[in-house]
Amino acid sequence: MASSIYSLVYYSRNYIASDETTFAANVDQILAKSRLNNQRDEITGALLFNAGCFAQVLEGPLDTVEAAFERIQQDERHGDVSLLALNPIEHRSFPNWAMGFIGTSKIHAERFADIGSSSGFDPSRLTGDEINSLLRELAIEEEAA
Ligand code: FAD
Repeated sequence: MASSIYSLVYYSRNYIASDETTFAANVDQILAKSRLNNQRDEITGALLFNAGCFAQVLEGPLDTVEAAFERIQQDERHGDVSLLALNPIEHRSFPNWAMGFIGTSKIHAERFADIGSSSGFDPSRLTGDEINSLLRELAIEEEAA
C-alpha cells in the first residue's frame, strides 16, 4: 500500500539579523507558530540552524506538508530556499516533535561543524538523506539529554 506520509527536506539562508537577541526572539516566534500550525496539520519534524543556514525536515500528509512549505518559501526571514527531497516514508523520524529545534547547544554546534567542514560548511552540499539522518541523530541525543 502506498505511504500517505511524506518527508520534505530543504535548506535556506538565514536573513534574520545576526545579533543574538534578535535571532533568538525570531526563532522563538517561528517555533511557537510552527508548533501550533504543525499540530493542527499533523506535521512533525526538526529545524537545524548553523553557519547562517537553516535546514528543516517536515513530515506529514502531502497536502499539509506542501502547504506549509509554500508558506515557508514566502517567509522573508530567510531566502534561497532549496528543496532537497520530497519522498513517501513508512515511519516518521520525529514522531514526538511538532517542530524540534537544534542549533543552540555546544555539542550540536560542534557536531554540525564537523559535518559542515567536510562539506565546506555548506548544507547545499549535503543530500536530503544526510540532513534527515543528521537531524534524527541529534534529536535522539537531545531527547536522551
Ligand atoms: P500568520 O502567522 O498570521 O502570518 C501572516 C504572514 O506574516 C505570513 O506571511 C508570515 O510569513 C508573516 N510573518 C509573521 N510574522 C513575521 C515576522 N516576525 N517577520 C516576517 N514575517 C512575518 N511555519 C509552519 O507552519 N511550520 C513550520 O514548520 C515552519 N517552519 C519555519 C522554518 C523557518 C526557517 C522559517 C523562517 C519559518 C517557518 N515557518 C513555519 C513560518 C512560516 O514561514 C509562516 O510564517 C507561517 O507558517 C505563517 O503562519 P500563518 O499562516 O498562521 O500566518
